[in-house]
Amino acid sequence: MSDLISQEGFSFAFRPSACAECGGHCCSGESGNIFVSLAEAEALAAFLNLELEVFALRYLEKRGYRYSLIERRVGEEHDCIFFDRSFKGCSVYAARPQQCRSFPFWDYFKSHPDALRAECPGVVGV
Ligand code: SF4
Ligand code: SF4
Repeated sequence: MSDLISQEGFSFAFRPSACAECGGHCCSGESGNIFVSLAEAEALAAFLNLELEVFALRYLEKRGYRYSLIERRVGEEHDCIFFDRSFKGCSVYAARPQQCRSFPFWDYFKSHPDALRAECPGVVGV
């Protein structure tokens, strides 16, 4: 169990090696928000070698007062636009937004352990 990651304030731990067998459940499935800040949009645009405006028109949509990455509908599933089914991973991994980097240590899951259990096979002790 040496690869377990824990974080202060969270009662569960995370085993990153689970991602290899999981198939990217957190990047696909039910529709959701993948929020990006301006700085994150700039980093993603640079990673993709695109002008910010081009990136925003192609990959972002407004949700409330924030911006989210768009999704791609695949049957009943909703994939993040950057989820690559060919290798079941993130095609912009090095520039992925903080929301993705911090998963599964989201405050939301502190009070929704069932949702976390259903979403991520890498969590332990939830
Ligand atoms: S759902 Fe959990 S185990 Fe699966 S890819 Fe995402 S973080 Fe990894
Ligand atoms: S940006 Fe990458 S890590 Fe984040 S939801 Fe999309 S595919 Fe997953």
